[in-house]
Amino acid sequence: MLISAPMKTPLYSIRMHSSCRGSHLSGAERLVPQAELEAVAGQLLRRALEHSRGCADSIRLSVDAIAEPLVRSATLPDLATIRVTDYRQGREAAAVLLQHSGVSPRAVEIALATLAAGAAPDGGSMRGAMLLDAESGVRLEADPFRGVRVSRMDLSPEAALRLQQQLQRLGLNNPHVREALVLAGKVLATPGILAELCWSDDPDYTAGYVASAALGYRRLTQLKPLGEERGGRVFFIRDEGFDLTRLQRELEQAVLLFTDIGTIAGETPWEELRATLAAGA
Ligand code: AMP
Repeated sequence: MLISAPMKTPLYSIRMHSSCRGSHLSGAERLVPQAELEAVAGQLLRRALEHSRGCADSIRLSVDAIAEPLVRSATLPDLATIRVTDYRQGREAAAVLLQHSGVSPRAVEIALATLAAGAAPDGGSMRGAMLLDAESGVRLEADPFRGVRVSRMDLSPEAALRLQQQLQRLGLNNPHVREALVLAGKVLATPGILAELCWSDDPDYTAGYVASAALGYRRLTQLKPLGEERGGRVFFIRDEGFDLTRLQRELEQAVLLFTDIGTIAGETPWEELRATLAAGA
């Protein structure tokens, strides 16, 4: 991942959060210049009102100027899709990919079991991500309902256009893929994080991914059964005596604009990739 020197760009962080009867429904955010704020606010509002899980009864929009225009720029991770036969094979593949990225078998097992059971203390989905020690599998986030929310990242207009064109070729040009790739890009650019595992809490969206510096963003066609509402994210933390408060601040506050994209590759069946990984191991 290439991170260039800071650049000065007057940008605003605009964030939307919607809920229905007190429960989280949807969230999205962008980094835009002032001239685009009004149009983007409209897009985010529409998105909150048209969510597939129902109509929002509360929508919050917040806009913050980036005080010190200290915007770092980076390149998105490479993306490739792995075709699996069902969600069980998807989770088996995710386990192999995470271990290949340096996560211990124990931490992988804990991550998969916790997401499957609903990672929040009430058995539902968390609002943000779990932090897991990549070796011991111990949970590290301070608030197990909220977790850590990655924020303040986006694509430059040129990178957004290139990404949409490349994803279009593969029939993958949808907000789920675009936004998850940007989020994973920021996670991988954050020192102290080894890998990420994600599947959605949207009952209609069964794909998910594993991302790591070693493998890039590996989209798995199925990681949960259709209709399942429990989803989540796990960030695997390197055991290097890191500062947890600083890591959380980086994920939530550092401003990162992706000005270039990585390679966008097509599908490989899991059996094929498993054989390749085993041969190289
Ligand atoms: P989604 O892919 O939007 O369905 O989100 C799946 C899960 O990822 C959610 O249930 C949250 O637990 C987590 N999540 C969503 N947005 C964020 C974020 N910005 N930062 C960290 N975790 C998130």
